[in-house]
Amino acid sequence: MNIIVLFGPPGSGKGTQAKILSEKFHLEHISTGDLFRYNIKNNTKLGQEAQSYINKGNLVPDELTTEMLIDELRRNSSQKGFILDGYPRTKSQAETLDKLLNTIFRTQVDVTLALYVKDEILVKRILKRSEASERLDDADESIIRNRINEYYEKTAVVSNYYKQQHKLVELDGEGNIEEITAALSKEIEKFI
Ligand code: ADP
Repeated sequence: MNIIVLFGPPGSGKGTQAKILSEKFHLEHISTGDLFRYNIKNNTKLGQEAQSYINKGNLVPDELTTEMLIDELRRNSSQKGFILDGYPRTKSQAETLDKLLNTIFRTQVDVTLALYVKDEILVKRILKRSEASERLDDADESIIRNRINEYYEKTAVVSNYYKQQHKLVELDGEGNIEEITAALSKEIEKFI
């Protein structure tokens, strides 16, 4: 079983790449952002609880997020592997993920692929994306900037966690989609 983590700030292209790569390598794509949006759309209890955090551009509390992830991992336990997009986003989530993978699948993260993009490009990309989507957290520049702040304050440390385990590969996320897919694929192929 393969576990690939895609990592990077909001707007760095994790979702776009995870979709392409999950099809290419036949891995299940788990996006915590998509799962939250699905729950919000269907007005579940989890969706109601997560909504206010997401619409302000804050991280959802670890406990809610992790419960959702556990359900998703268990539901897909027959899979050949996963591409995680949007989890872990805090050091505590990274530690939890290690424990979960060990308990549920007796496996561990193969590699964390981190995409780096300058803040001003992130903001431009997300505003552009908002033209074609209904995401409230994409439409307002101050909310976007808050998400980027949350990334630097709480999420960026996750890269050190994987660096210490020699599992971090850092990549330039500013090229075109095909170039970035090729660079990520090269790294994933080392584990498949
Ligand atoms: P982006 O990466 O562009 O911010 P996502 O769709 O991955 O978009 O996430 C949207 C929102 O969902 C985040 O701003 C956050 O509020 C919430 N979220 C997603 N994943 C997590 C997580 N692992 N922990 C806490 N909150 C999360």
